[in-house]
Amino acid sequence: MTDTGTDTAETLLARTPTDLYIDGRWRASASGARFDVVNPADGEVIARVADAVPADGAAALDAAVAAAAGWAATAPRDRAEILRRAFELVREREEELALLMTLEMGKPLAEARGEVGYGGEFLRWFSEEAVRIGGRYGATPEGTGTMVVSQHPVGPCYLITPWNFPLAMATRKVAPALAAGNTVVIKPAALTPLTTLALARILAEAGLPAGVLNVVTTTDTAAVSDPLIADPRLRKLSFTGSTPVGRTLLAQAAGTVLRTSMELGGNAPFLVFADADLDAAVEGALQAKFRNIGQACTAANRFLVHEDVADEFARRVTERVRGLPLGDGRKDGTVIGPLIDHRAVEKASALVADAVERGASLLTGGSVVPGPGSFFEATVLDHVRPGSRVLREEIFGPVLAIARFGDEDEAVRLANDTEYGLAAYAFTRDLARGHRLIERLESGMLGLNAGVISNAAAPFGGVKQSGLGREGSREGIQEYLTTKYSFIPAA
Ligand code: NAD
Repeated sequence: MTDTGTDTAETLLARTPTDLYIDGRWRASASGARFDVVNPADGEVIARVADAVPADGAAALDAAVAAAAGWAATAPRDRAEILRRAFELVREREEELALLMTLEMGKPLAEARGEVGYGGEFLRWFSEEAVRIGGRYGATPEGTGTMVVSQHPVGPCYLITPWNFPLAMATRKVAPALAAGNTVVIKPAALTPLTTLALARILAEAGLPAGVLNVVTTTDTAAVSDPLIADPRLRKLSFTGSTPVGRTLLAQAAGTVLRTSMELGGNAPFLVFADADLDAAVEGALQAKFRNIGQACTAANRFLVHEDVADEFARRVTERVRGLPLGDGRKDGTVIGPLIDHRAVEKASALVADAVERGASLLTGGSVVPGPGSFFEATVLDHVRPGSRVLREEIFGPVLAIARFGDEDEAVRLANDTEYGLAAYAFTRDLARGHRLIERLESGMLGLNAGVISNAAAPFGGVKQSGLGREGSREGIQEYLTTKYSFIPAA
């Protein structure tokens, strides 16, 4: 262990909030209940967090509704300054936020630091966007009067986030919502509530008024969420998580015609053409597959490789994967940390078994690592047969599955053969092919000769059943604004 080992972890956890944050106050849940937060690297309980009941959810929404008019009336520059200060605080606290994420979620510390950088950027980016919310003003074509098009905060928002990027998934919603002048209730995943609570404290220190941001942590998700989503005072639901839960929430949102943004699952194809720079493709593959131990919605799920270079690609990638250090994310050099829980390990194991049964060859890995932590070996499968679960389902684990194609048309057909459409990756030296792929691949995002694509300044989101709406970039703030048209007749 490095110096960020046990002592530092203990002191950090001792000062990390574990209560609900409602109306500017930290408080226990109405029932007094708490739930355990577990470090997936060793199975140890690291915190006991307030377990909200429906009355707490209602109190959080009440606080957000009460604070809405005041916050909407704040000068954009003042909102921007608060977000900017929060960005500075996140940057100052890089080490402790990174360690907190490694402790509650398992990712290697180096990656957790990367997430602090990426997650913090949304605070900076939207602090800059807060003062650029514009409108239009102009004559009607007939000269009968003036049209004014203005933009306004949508109103109280409910933000639901997953466990895999505890900081970035929160800031990607909170920052644009607040920048646009909305108040929010945020519900992090029960597996990783601590980072969101730490973020709430940072925003409070940065000067965010009481009630503007409220945090509800709970294991009784539907009981707490359903009444909020049904409440007509709620004006926006923004969700990041799995497609099945997204579908349920969309159906619920229909009840009040609630505006929604949905960042859902993915099944990203990673195409390697015969003309690709294979060194770059292998490097990109390692990033796109093993970042966050494969637990990213943008993770490459299906490696589709041209038959002329597939053997060589498989050989090189396997050589690299064999050397990836596995262990506690706090240990220097770890690349393969634990999966989020034992269920995730069982799923990875079942997907590998299914692929092998259907004829895939196992080039390395494939086993559950015994112990209290939830580890699965970094794995490479080759000659994965069509119909294998590993090609159809989101793997969310360190399993790299290779299948082959013969020409570009087949590659595109295979790549698009999924209900998902979030990220895609393609490695080719042919510029014309690159342009064709932008047109032909059904995805919201494409890495062309790149294994990592996320950027706060870029619109993140999917097509098909990967979701609705975009986060980050100029588009991100639009999700939290409503457009109003006013007409003033000519005098
Ligand atoms: P999940 O859908 O199980 O849970 C996500 C969040 O929804 C959690 O906070 C959970 O408590 C909450 N939730 C679950 N059921 C709910 C209900 N009935 N009502 C209200 N809230 C409910 O997903 P997960 O396992 O936490 O995260 C992994 C999934 O998230 C993967 O599918 C991944 O692709 C997706 N994801 C997508 C993006 C993106 O931007 N598209 C980013 C990260 C993760």
